[in-house]
Amino acid sequence: LFKFEVTILGCSSATPVFNRHPTSQWVNYNNTHFLLDCGEGTQMQITRFGLKASKLSHIFISHLHGDHYLGLMGLISSMNLNGRTADLHIYAPSQLEALMHSHFEISQSHIRFPLFFHNTFPEPKDPEPTHFNSEILLDFPINLKDGPQVEIHSRVLLETKEFSVSTIPLKHSIPCCGFLIKELGVTRNQEGNPRSYAFCSDTRYTPQLQELLFGVATLYHETTFSHSMVNRAEVTYHSTASQAAQLAKDCCAGKLLMGHFSARYKDLNPLLEEAKSIFPDSYLAVEGITFSI
Ligand SMILES: [Zn+2]
Ligand SMILES: [Zn+2]
Repeated sequence: LFKFEVTILGCSSATPVFNRHPTSQWVNYNNTHFLLDCGEGTQMQITRFGLKASKLSHIFISHLHGDHYLGLMGLISSMNLNGRTADLHIYAPSQLEALMHSHFEISQSHIRFPLFFHNTFPEPKDPEPTHFNSEILLDFPINLKDGPQVEIHSRVLLETKEFSVSTIPLKHSIPCCGFLIKELGVTRNQEGNPRSYAFCSDTRYTPQLQELLFGVATLYHETTFSHSMVNRAEVTYHSTASQAAQLAKDCCAGKLLMGHFSARYKDLNPLLEEAKSIFPDSYLAVEGITFSI
């Protein structure tokens, strides 16, 4: 069985509190290493947990709220200072490329390794990129409209012989997608399912994801609030522990990892108990823990 595991580097929403850092997760699939989101302080967390940034080959950014990408400038700068020569691929909304180019131009930093940007929200009218070798993405529209008629389209971002990474359309206050990592081939885990990991970063409760995520081995879903704050969750485009657990139950997930906790919760156990009452195989995705998929 190939190694397929995720290490939690950050699990806080919005602001870092109680020693919780903003969102970032490190995935190791058979020694291919990638990051899911890169909140502030991610490079410090990488060092803290004995990981090596030089091993990263792909970074996936769900959306451009600061708690999901502000660690990227620092991480890339350090890679440059450390003499990186290997390719690095970043998958994100296209504005991130402009933002990072501005930063590196203003700071007169010359990135000396090949850095490739891949737009996770391509518009059909977008011209073909000419300044980098983006792979051609499939052109499914992502419909973020509310209601049961919502169309859930997933696009493949990366495919190797061993695994694929595709988008999970999410409902958030700005364009946002999660990532679904699927093992390809015939390797199976103890439960007899092909292994897969769904990362649903920031989103309103979206029961329509049930079909796309059905049978997922491990579902990470944000649980910013307890269900007593379901209205607050709705207006801020976030989810409650109960809602995440309900989705895990409805898509017959193997287990649920909970994260993106609001700064109002010092003790996370009430959130965990709330989720477990609906979906018993729920776990707090707190920093430093490695989960096998
Ligand atoms: Zn967030
Ligand atoms: Zn957000």
